Parts: sequence; structure tokens; C-alpha cells
Amino acid sequence: MDKTMNVVDLLLKLLSCKSLTPDDAGSLNLIETYLDEYEALYVNKEGVKNLFLSKKFGEGEHLCFAGHVDVVPAGDKWDTNPFVPVIKEGNIYGRGTQDMKAGVAAFVQTCKDATTFKGRLSILLTSDEEGEAKYGTIVMLEHLKKEGLLPDYAIVAEPTCEAVFGDAIKIGRRGSINGYLSIEGKQGHAAYPEKAINPLHQIAPILANIAGIHLDNGDDDFAPSQMVLTDIRGGMQVTNVTPSDLKLMFNVRNSTKTTQKEISLI
Ligand SMILES: [Zn+2]
Repeated sequence: MDKTMNVVDLLLKLLSCKSLTPDDAGSLNLIETYLDEYEALYVNKEGVKNLFLSKKFGEGEHLCFAGHVDVVPAGDKWDTNPFVPVIKEGNIYGRGTQDMKAGVAAFVQTCKDATTFKGRLSILLTSDEEGEAKYGTIVMLEHLKKEGLLPDYAIVAEPTCEAVFGDAIKIGRRGSINGYLSIEGKQGHAAYPEKAINPLHQIAPILANIAGIHLDNGDDDFAPSQMVLTDIRGGMQVTNVTPSDLKLMFNVRNSTKTTQKEISLI
């Protein structure tokens, strides 16, 4: 690997990897090669590649940088190829620049440049974060626990800035709860609503009680857990037939004040 490579070069190379979740598309090997002074450990499961790089500088605590190299699909509204990064007016454009290859490049470079540290520095990378996220960080942490290598602290370089770089640091991480609701009704003609069971009419009064409601008040570190409706559909896109069924999806990014167990009881 080119020894003169800097953090921007590294980021551009990472952005050139078409790492659609859960395919790392070579990005983990790229990082492993770049950090050749770090011991590499791969834990792969169900086609997902996870990489742990670590270096012991001395006795002391273990600080881990954690992140993912996978990205969500690019969509079709790009002016340029989303996997051929471009630098324009001081900004870098490419799929995954913000979430989170820039963060990954930054902490990889930090680890490469580190000459002293009181303890162990490590990097935990997965290519299974944007999708199901079943075989990524969870699998690696289970393995590290068995090896006695669990970090004492972790920094996750996910984008959190509100307006300018570094203006927000989150302590901890919210959960993510997905919900699916379906209502079965009975299709009918709009002219004879009394003969149908219209799921749209059934859900209408309930919507006001669930859309955007706060499940808790949050705390100093987290905003309240909010019920966010993400999709609602039913019907045949016509005005004269009432739908036979309705499907609704929601998501809650929950603070530590609301657990998955609690929400399933609501
Ligand atoms: Zn992310």
C-alpha cells in the first residue's frame, strides 16, 4: 500500500468500494492492509464480514473505535456515480461519505498515527449495520467476550453534528424498534359504506393517539422516545372502492427510558 496515503486518500478509496449492505466490497481488507501494524481478526457469519484490529501499547484500559463500512442503496437521483467520489468546492461527495466512511477513515488514520497510548487501541468494523444488523457488531462482541478482549470504552464515529463539525457528542446510543400493524376489513363500494368494514375509518381516530406521541420524557442524554409513523397504505388508488385491509409501519428510536419490552406491552 502507498505509504504516502493520507486520510482523504483513504476516504476516497473507501467510497470507491460499492459496499451495499451487507457486502463490504473489499473495504475491510483495504483497512486491514493500511493498518498493518495492528493485529487483525476476522469473524464472519452468514456471509457477513467483521474485522477487529487491535494493538497493545502498554498496560491500561482498552479503547475501541467502532463503525460500519456498509451503505444503503444510492437511489437514482445522483448527478454523478455515487461510488466514484468527487471533491467539489471543498466537499467530498459519494455514497456513505457521511454515514459513515468519513468517520471510519478518521479513526483509522488516528490509530495509524498513534505512537503512544496507555493501554490497547482497537477498531471494530462491520458490514452489517444498515440492514438486518444481526451478524455484525453483536457477533463480534460475543467473540471478543470469549477472548477476554471486550473494550472498556468505545467511540462510535456515526454522524451526530447538528450544524458544524464536532458540535454534538452523544453519550450512549438509542435503540430502534420497528412495528408493523395490519387491519383486516371488508372491501366495499364507496356508495354503500354500511356494507363494508373500512380499515381507514377504523384507524382514523387511533392515529391521533399514536402519531408522534412521546413514550417517555427522555433524559439529559436522549430526546424523548417518539412514535414515528413511516408508512401507511391500503386501497387501490381509486375513489369508489373502500379498502379490504390496511398496513401501517412505525419506528421508535428509544431512549433508555423506554425498553422494547415495555413498548410491546402498550
Ligand atoms: Zn451509520
